[in-house]
Amino acid sequence: MTGTLFDKVWDAHKVRVLPSGQTQLFVGLHLVHEVTSPQAFDMLRQHGWRVAFPDRTVATVDHIVPTDIRRRPFVDVMAEQMTSALERNCRDFGLRLYGPDAREQGIVHVIGPELGLTQPGMTLACGDSHTSTHGALGAIAFGIGTSQVRDVLAAQSLVLERPKVRRIDVNGRLAPGVYAKDVILTIIRTLGVEGGVGYAYEYGGTTIDAMTIDERMTICNMSIEGGARVGYVNPDETTFAFLRGRRFAPAGDAFDRATAWWRSMASAPDASYDDLVQLAAEEVEPTVTWGINPGQSLGVTGRMPIPSHDSPRDEAAAEALTFMGFEPGSRIQGTRIDVAFIGSCTNGRLSDLEEAARIVRGHRVAPHVKALVVPGSQGVSRDAEARGLHEVFLAAGFEWRSAGCSMCLGMNTDRLEGRQVCASSSNRNFKGRQGSPVGRTLLMSPAMVAAAAIAGEVVDVRPLVTSSASPVSSAVIQPDRPPFRDSR
Ligand code: SF4
Repeated sequence: MTGTLFDKVWDAHKVRVLPSGQTQLFVGLHLVHEVTSPQAFDMLRQHGWRVAFPDRTVATVDHIVPTDIRRRPFVDVMAEQMTSALERNCRDFGLRLYGPDAREQGIVHVIGPELGLTQPGMTLACGDSHTSTHGALGAIAFGIGTSQVRDVLAAQSLVLERPKVRRIDVNGRLAPGVYAKDVILTIIRTLGVEGGVGYAYEYGGTTIDAMTIDERMTICNMSIEGGARVGYVNPDETTFAFLRGRRFAPAGDAFDRATAWWRSMASAPDASYDDLVQLAAEEVEPTVTWGINPGQSLGVTGRMPIPSHDSPRDEAAAEALTFMGFEPGSRIQGTRIDVAFIGSCTNGRLSDLEEAARIVRGHRVAPHVKALVVPGSQGVSRDAEARGLHEVFLAAGFEWRSAGCSMCLGMNTDRLEGRQVCASSSNRNFKGRQGSPVGRTLLMSPAMVAAAAIAGEVVDVRPLVTSSASPVSSAVIQPDRPPFRDSR
C-alpha cells in the first residue's frame, strides 16, 4: 500500500465525509479516565443512549487518584467523588474499569501499551491531551475534549479535520546522558509550540529507529506540546517484539497475521509528506526548560535568552523570565530546586526509573529537596520493585508512591507550594500546572531529575552517566551569576 501510515489508518477508519468537509472517523479504542468523562456519561443518560461499543472502551483512574494512602473513602473528597462517579458509570454502562485497587491501574497512556490494548494501525481516542503517546506503537491517537468523549461513547466515532503530515527525521547517535526527552524538547524548541498546529508528526530516522518503545512513547507523548495533535512512529520489529505476549495483543497464529497487517500499514518508502524536518542527534544536549511553555528550553550548559522586546517571541521570553525569577542571560545549571518529581505518562515507565536509579544509587537526596518517584502504573511499580529499584530510591531519600499522574498536574494532593522550583520529568511547565499558581517547573529527563535531586540544583547528568564513580556535586556547576532574581 502506498502513502503514509497516517493516510492508511485514516482511510481505513473513514465512516464518511460530511458536507462540512470533515471526516467521521471510526475509533478502534476509547480510553476513559475520571476527569473528562463524568459530564459525557451524564449526557448519555439525558439522551437515554447506551455506549455503542463497550468492548472497545477501557477506563482507569489516574489524574486525581491519591498516590500515598489509597484507603477508601479517599481523604481528598473530590478524588473520592470522581472515582465513585467513574465506578458507577462503568457499572451502569457495562465498561471495563481498572479502579484504584486493580493490578492494571495506572496512567491511561501507560496501561494502554502495557496491556497490549494499543496496537499498530488502529485509531484511538482519550479525553487527555497526551493521547498521542500511543502513536509510539503505530496507532493514530487523538486527545479529545469532553463533548467528543460523549461522541465516542455514543457512536464510537469522531468528526475531525484531516491534518497534514510532517515527517521529522532524527539521525545519528545520542551521546550518553542524552535521552528521548531531550530529543523531543529540542524538536519543540526548534519548531515552536505552535509549529505542529494542523499537522500529524511522523517521527523516523536512525535515532528513532534505534529507540525502544518506551523512548518512542516519550517522543510521541509530547507531540501536543509542539502543537501536533497526533504523533507516531511506524511499526517495526521493535514494535512487534514489544507487543508479543501482552494480554490484549493477538496470540499464536493471530499474532503472525496481525504482524503482517501491521507491517503493511507502515508508511511506504515513497510516501510523500507535506513537510520534512531533519535533526542531528549529535546536536541534542541534556535539555531543561527555563520558561512557562515546553518550547522555552535550552541545553543544560547554555544561557537563558536576553529578550529585546521587539518580537512576540521575545515578549513571551520576557514574561517567562519574570515569572520564573530568572536573570536574562543567566545559566540554568546551578539553579536550586525544592522538589524533584520522577513520573508521568512522559517518563514514568520502568526504563525511566531504571535510568534514574542508576544515577541515584549510592547517593542521598539533598537535604532541602523533597523527592518523589511515582510509577506510571501498578505494573511498572511491581516490575520496579522486583528489580529492587524502590529500595534504591528509598535509601536515597526519595518517596516511593503508588501509580498515578501525581505532580504532573495540580489535581491531586501532590502539589508544589508557593514559589517552589520543581525538577520534573513531566511534560508541561505552564503557570500553575503543578498545583501552585506561582510554582515553577523545570522539565527535563528522569536522569536529569535524579541528578538534580542529589545535587539540590540543576546539573549536567552526562559526567555521571559516562563515569558511574563520579560523585554528584555542585563542583561541576560554574554559574557566573545567580540564576534567581529574587526568592519570591
Ligand atoms: S501524567 Fe500528566 S499528561 Fe499524563 S495523563 Fe496524567 S495529567 Fe495527563
